[in-house]
Amino acid sequence: MRSGIECSLCMRCPRDQVQGCCVIGPVFLLTDIGHFINNGSDDFVIKLLDSPYTDLSEHQFRVRAVVRADNRTVCRFHHPEIGCRIPLAYRNTVCRQFLCPEVRLWQDRRARRWVQFWLRLQEEEIRCQQLLAAECARKGCSLLVRRQECLQLIGEQYRSLVFDLPEGYPQAECIMLDRQERECPVLIK
Ligand code: SF4
Ligand code: SF4
Repeated sequence: MRSGIECSLCMRCPRDQVQGCCVIGPVFLLTDIGHFINNGSDDFVIKLLDSPYTDLSEHQFRVRAVVRADNRTVCRFHHPEIGCRIPLAYRNTVCRQFLCPEVRLWQDRRARRWVQFWLRLQEEEIRCQQLLAAECARKGCSLLVRRQECLQLIGEQYRSLVFDLPEGYPQAECIMLDRQERECPVLIK
């Protein structure tokens, strides 16, 4: 469920040396919160929820991007030299899976079998998010109302979720893309 893609091209991003695709304020869902709570990162969740830079909704929250002096935006978690400061498994679904067209991963025949996997993963995430939201609604709590009970409930319910993902995929696969400039390894896991 926390699968992700890492691409070495991102370290020398052809779009923008400073921020690449990380111009957004990432949105975290109840499924992300469930993962954080069950992996010893309760503090991380609480800090994000209490942050003045966070826009809270009932079942998700967004960490607002920074507006720079030149009016461009950049994600608050982005570092100009190391990229994303959040470990892969802690990023939201979009950030774990997004690769820009410049990487051209999905045109490579070796990567095609993963397309179905990512589509199913997205469906699973939506299904789990809806289940968690419904359970919170049933108990009358949310990220806005009775938050402590909501977090406890999400932590418990997340543990009991069954992820119905397709079988037959390796734990991880590294695909070396040939680019005119140089080779570009992509790790999918
Ligand atoms: S996905 Fe594309 S735009 Fe984003 S950092 Fe990587 S190379 Fe740059
Ligand atoms: S959370 Fe990380 S990957 Fe996502 S936009 Fe921010 S810096 Fe980029």
